[in-house]
Amino acid sequence: MITEIPQPPIARRPRWRSLLLLALVLLPLLWPVQQLAERYYREKLLERNSQTLDLFVANLLGTLKRYEVLPALLGDLPALRAALATPQDDTRLKQANQLLKDTAELTGAAVIYLMATDGQTIASSNWDQADSFTGRNFTFRPYFRDAMADKPGRFFGLGTSSGKRGYYFADALHENGKIFGVLVVKIHLDHTETLWGKTPEQLLVTDANGVVILTSQTDWRFRASRPLSASSRQQIARDQPYPTIDPPPLQLPAQQWLQQSRTLAQTDWQVSILAPRYLVTRPVQTVLLIAAASLLAVLLLLGLLMQRRRHYLQRIALAAQTRNELEIRVHQRTQDLQNLNNRLKDEVLEREHTQQELLRTQDELLQAGKLSALGTMSASISHELNQPLAAIRSYADNANILLDQQRIEETHNNLRLISELTTRMASIIAHLRAFARRDRHAPESVALQPALEDALALLAKRRRSLDVELIRDLPETPLWVQAGETRLRQVLGNLLGNALDALSGVAPPRRLWLTVEQRSDSITLLIRDNGPGFSPEALQRAREPFFTTKTNAQGLGLGLAICDNLISALGGELALANHPQGGALLSLNLQRAAGGTSAQSAEDSPL
Ligand code: ADP
Repeated sequence: MITEIPQPPIARRPRWRSLLLLALVLLPLLWPVQQLAERYYREKLLERNSQTLDLFVANLLGTLKRYEVLPALLGDLPALRAALATPQDDTRLKQANQLLKDTAELTGAAVIYLMATDGQTIASSNWDQADSFTGRNFTFRPYFRDAMADKPGRFFGLGTSSGKRGYYFADALHENGKIFGVLVVKIHLDHTETLWGKTPEQLLVTDANGVVILTSQTDWRFRASRPLSASSRQQIARDQPYPTIDPPPLQLPAQQWLQQSRTLAQTDWQVSILAPRYLVTRPVQTVLLIAAASLLAVLLLLGLLMQRRRHYLQRIALAAQTRNELEIRVHQRTQDLQNLNNRLKDEVLEREHTQQELLRTQDELLQAGKLSALGTMSASISHELNQPLAAIRSYADNANILLDQQRIEETHNNLRLISELTTRMASIIAHLRAFARRDRHAPESVALQPALEDALALLAKRRRSLDVELIRDLPETPLWVQAGETRLRQVLGNLLGNALDALSGVAPPRRLWLTVEQRSDSITLLIRDNGPGFSPEALQRAREPFFTTKTNAQGLGLGLAICDNLISALGGELALANHPQGGALLSLNLQRAAGGTSAQSAEDSPL
């Protein structure tokens, strides 16, 4: 029985789907990458901006500190005090103006001016300019009030005449413990806004109200970074530090800007750096892109490896399948061979059985054959001996008659002939026995013509009575053939006897032809008669034992059977045919033999 060997399963998963699944699984890995990158770039940015902020603050503080002491220092100068003491003295005022101008130029201050206690400016560094402060009254300015209250006056605001932003330092001048004037230094801070160049980060300085006073972004200027309180609004309305008393709000969305701030303690100002978020998001995006690209590359590599593995597995599976198929085929073939073998065994057994059966049947046949052979033998003996017996009877009858007539010599002759015939009969019996036993003498060289003469002599009387004309065409020289003398005579006697039998049934003229055909290795004796010839059935079956068409007691149907058998045993051939012109034509073909001289054949020796 042939069983199907199970095939190894071949992986048939859609590879890109599994890769996609893998990608989906790996995708969340980008989140920590994004977080880490963001934290890294954010910290780096904050650190850098913190340094920048510190620098800026230090710079701003340095600037402020540089001018902070200036009013007090200048207040001690005698020229200024003299001018304050005698404000009507033009010379002194002039000197004071000049001094202030020189000092402003030296220190880089925007304006330095001297005020009387009533708020009237008596001398200023810009005395000779169109927007000169000289003669102007700034009592409304908070720095004046603070100075008059003997406090350091500090104020940031737009100049009422110049319109320029400035920081005001104001200190009171004392004389005998009393305030008798105020010295104000105004500095411009515009240059601090340009420290940043073209970097994307923006500077933002807000005052105590939260209003932007310095910024690198001009449209943010004087906007309120937080909602203004009522007191702030009052203070703004009173001091007018900005171009407007109602500063519009400044919207800085936290998602767009990263803000870092420092508070300047001395001024209640807040300095901020605003870094656009994209400074962080862009490199993070780049990192994410690189990570995603790396992931993609890894996935592709993985896909490639999977594909190779899949091909490898397929190859292995194919090899296994081929091996399996081969095994199945071998198995099938083995099975077939096994079946065949079994069949052969059965056949052998059957054959052995049949053989045994055959042997048994053969034994039975042998028994039957023995009986049949016995019948055949007796029939043959009687047939073969009948002719010489008839001759002996005839010779004996003649001898009696000859004896009565005292013809002694002829009687002797007849008796001799009788003796010869008995010798021949003994020889025939021996031959029949040999034939029955399949005992064969080796062929010997026998001359054809004498044997033929002997056979004709035996039939001479009958031939004469039938008036058969004998037409012979035989060479004089002996034709030596391989045969046994007795067997040859026996065969020839049979064939000639049959011819006479056939001729006896036809009207004269009766003829018998005897001719010879010679070849290098064989000699053929042709015996032809002009009798009725073989009937079609006889032509087929004449060699069969006991086939005869003769109705009289003579016909035993053994003649041709014995002849055929004897001739075959001698290596010759007997052919039966009808002559085209009618009558039978028998061809006795014998192998040519070397010439011999033996007068007495071995076959003729009595038994
Ligand atoms: P039998 O002579 O006893 O019949 P044979 O074996 O000698 O037996 O012959 C067989 C048959 O062959 C004969 O009965 C006859 O019909 C046929 N036969 C033999 N010789 C001749 C012949 N010369 N012409 C015609 N028929 C023949």
